Order: sequence, then structure tokens, then C-alpha cells
Amino acid sequence: MQEELFKNIIAHAKEYGFIFQSSEIYDGLSAVYDYGPNGIELKNNIKNYWWDAMVKVHDNIVGLDTAIFMHPRVWDASGHVAAFNDPLIDNKDSKKRYRADVLLEEYIARLEERIEKEVKKGQKRFKDAFDEAQFRATNPNVLREQEKIDRVKDRIVEALNTDNLKELKQLIIECEIACPISGSRDWTDVRQFNLMFSTQMGSTHEGASQIFLRPETAQGIFVNFLNVQKSTRMKVPFGIAQTGKAFRNEIVARQFIFRMREFEQMEMQYFVQPGKEMEWYEHWKQARMDWHQSLGLGENMYRFKDHEKLAHYANAACDIEFQFPFGFKELEGIHSRTDYDLARHEEYSGRRMRYFDPETNESYVPYVVETSIGTDRMFLAVLSAALKEETLENGEKRTVLSLPPFLAPIGLAVFPLIKKDGLPEKAQEILQNVRLDYNCLYDEKDSIGRRYRRMDAIGTPYCITVDHQTLEDNTVTLRDRDTMVQERISIEKLPELLDKKLNKKHWLQKLQ
Ligand code: ATP
Repeated sequence: MQEELFKNIIAHAKEYGFIFQSSEIYDGLSAVYDYGPNGIELKNNIKNYWWDAMVKVHDNIVGLDTAIFMHPRVWDASGHVAAFNDPLIDNKDSKKRYRADVLLEEYIARLEERIEKEVKKGQKRFKDAFDEAQFRATNPNVLREQEKIDRVKDRIVEALNTDNLKELKQLIIECEIACPISGSRDWTDVRQFNLMFSTQMGSTHEGASQIFLRPETAQGIFVNFLNVQKSTRMKVPFGIAQTGKAFRNEIVARQFIFRMREFEQMEMQYFVQPGKEMEWYEHWKQARMDWHQSLGLGENMYRFKDHEKLAHYANAACDIEFQFPFGFKELEGIHSRTDYDLARHEEYSGRRMRYFDPETNESYVPYVVETSIGTDRMFLAVLSAALKEETLENGEKRTVLSLPPFLAPIGLAVFPLIKKDGLPEKAQEILQNVRLDYNCLYDEKDSIGRRYRRMDAIGTPYCITVDHQTLEDNTVTLRDRDTMVQERISIEKLPELLDKKLNKKHWLQKLQ
């Protein structure tokens, strides 16, 4: 893991007003974070790009915003009360709690690392004659580790599928997994732990009922399926998109905003005719990958991973994984959820959750394909891929956030070269003309070089400087974040240049 890089990202996020630890002056609240002035802009831009790619680009996808609190029966019907569990295990010496499945996954990742090391050694030794496929298929060290991996993986899947907690513990012992903190192998039994937060609704203790903070936004969509369908007269196939907070009492809440207890999701449920779900599942896998790739963070930063253990509601599921500084990890989930949710709500509420197909004159419970992405994880993906330390030709270093331009918190910074001679007034005038179209920033402090550096650090794609010549011929110096090229342009050209660089429309057009 690129520990240094990850530490830099966290420090940078704080220093430049992207992310703060929640309640920091009280030493923080574990796995809860606040977004600062630049963070909220970047997060909103990410959300808007997702929203537009769903709701604006598609005639048959509409939006929704449902409440965090829902009737408690919703979570009985969805299966969250009975089955939204993680298997946890405690180390008796450090008293630290872990997810048993995560400990085993990390063990497998270590074996995989060993294989990669062997392959690298082979590459070095055989140079041009190296045949990687053959090496992987025949090298005894590689084969031994691979066999171990396969055996452990099979047993994990079997144990998780049959809720065999004893077997999970047995595996942890057999794999000689030690607590990363105490180094000891003295473990408690594995127990199931429900991840939902609950609270009381109602004024008196006796009259109060237990309700949950939603652990996903999806159920708000399912229970409103008919309201939305009838009020918009949508025909299957159609989708409902929603962004909003979700809450999970995560056992292992580490890795900054990767795993939070309060987080945001962007989910879209696509309702289809039964039997057509696999077609749509494949469609949405590709559409979502295209959305990610459109950001240009690097083609090799993403990969699909099929689920080995399917959730109780799914007949196909995969993740889009992203190469975070701590390795490839889930960024988005795509699930074919069958008719599970709507059928369960029909059963638990006693209301029909059926769609009447006017073409066939038949009613049915639609099948659902879901795309579900964590807004905060997406934020971390963008931030970690964008943050770069560059050495310039003159040997100086600069920190630059190479964000996709239309996601940047500030689109344009406007600087007067000096604080007099009417330059600040001219700069303000330019700013007034574009500030309602793009987020802009006015800065007159320090040297121009330092102002550029500050803007590089928050990813501002364009800076313009107003100088004495501006007053004579209405031109400014435009400086590009990525190339650092400065060119003289006429102020009249600015709106067109900004549109090209900062209008998300151009990215959305490619997704149409
Ligand atoms: P994981 O396996 O990492 O716990 P999950 O499979 O439980 O995630 P889903 O229930 O599929 O996640 O949720 C959809 C998306 O919501 C995930 O792909 C992720 O981006 C995001 N997400 C889930 N849990 C968290 C969390 N605790 N903090 C931040 N984002 C989360």
C-alpha cells in the first residue's frame, strides 16, 4: 500500500478545506467526516455529473428524494433486520474488533502479493525470454501460493453462504492470522453484528417505537415505485434515481472516507420485465464503466469483480473496483435484484406492487437492476487519482490536483497583478461577468506565482491575470493548470474558452 501517498491525501484534504474530521475539537468522531468549502463543491459537482448522466441523459429515468426515516416494517421486508450482518471477531489481547471476512481477504491479498513478487523475480531473471503465462502456470512457488488461495477462497464462500461462523474462525486460526496491533492469535468466537443504527420515535418512552436510520437509499425507491410510475406514467423499462445519506454501524471503520458510518449514496433502480434482467444488467455494467472512464482518471484504474457470494436478493452481482492508494477496492455495486424487493414489500404491506403492461394487458412484479455508488468513495477515488507531486524543469516542486476540469471546486481564478492602478476593479468586472456561470475566486494576495500554486493545489483549471496592458487592449494572461502555459487572450474570448473547458455538457454528450 502506498501509505505515504494516502497520508498526503488526508493531510491535503484538510489543509485545503476538502475534508475535516467530524467534531475535531473533541478529538473527532470515528468514521464520520465533514466536507469543507472546497470539498462540498467537488462533492456537489460529482453528484451533479452522476445525476445528469442518469436523469438528464435518459428520458426514462426520473429522480426522487425520500426520507431517511422509514416505517420499521420496511427493514423487515427488505431483509435488513434479519440479515444485514457482518461476521465480527475480537482479538483478546488488543481488544480490537475486526470483520472476519476482511481479515481473510487481507490474508489472500498477501498471498497474491507474494505471487506478484515471484513473477517480478522471474521477469528480472529471464528478461526478454520471459513468458509470463507459462511462468504462472508452472513455477512451483506460484502454484503453491495459488493453490492455497483457491482453497481458502472456496472455504470462505462456503462458510459465508451457510452462515458457518465456526468455520470462519477455524480458517483464521489455520491461516495463522495475527492481530495487526497486538500480533497475537488469541481470538474470540465469530459473531454476527447488525449494521443498522436505531433510534426511538415518539415522545413517551412507552409509546415510542424503534426506528432505523436507513442503511441504503434503495428501499425509499422501492416503496415509492407505484407512486412514481403512476405520477409520471412511466412504462417499463424505466429507472428511478436518488442520492442521499445512508448509515451503517461499520465494525472496521478505517481508511478515511472509504468506509464511513454516515455516508452518501447515489443509487438508480431500473425496473424491467421479468426475464429481461440479464440483458439490462449487462447494459448497466457497461454504461456505468463508461461513466467512470469518461472522467479520464486512467483506464487501468478500474476493473470489474464478480461477487463470489450473492446477496439474498440477487441473481447476478459485480463491483466496479477502483485502484485506491490501498489497492483495488469496491467503488460501485451493480446488482440484478430480481423481484425480491417489490415482492417482499407486496407481502409485508399487503399492497399490490405490480405494473400493468398496457401492451400485453398483463400485470407483473418488475425485476430490478440496481447501480449503487458511494458518493464519498467516488470523491476519494477522484481525489487520490488527481493529487500529484510534480518536479518542474527548473527543479522546483509543485502539488497539483489534476481534477477533471468540470469537477474542480473553482473553475476560474482572477488575479489583479497588483493591488492598485485600477487593476482590482478591472479584475472584479471580469469576474462579475462569469461568476454566475462558474465558481470563481478573486485573489490579490502574494505574488502571482504563489497564487498559481494555491490554485494548483485545489485543482483550479484556469487562472487569469489582469495587468496594465489589460486596461489598454482588453487582453489578459490565461494560465492553464496542466500545461502551465500562459497565453495572452482577449477578454471577449473568455466565455467560449470557459465553456469548452468547464461545461459538463461536453462530457455528458459523450455518454448519450
Ligand atoms: P463493502 O463491501 O465495502 O462494505 P457493500 O458491498 O456493503 O460495501 P453496498 O451495500 O453495495 O456496499 O453499497 C453500495 C455502495 O455504497 C458501495 O459500492 C460503496 O461505494 C458505498 N458504501 C457502502 N458502505 C459504505 C461506507 N461504510 N462508507 C462509504 N461508502 C460506502
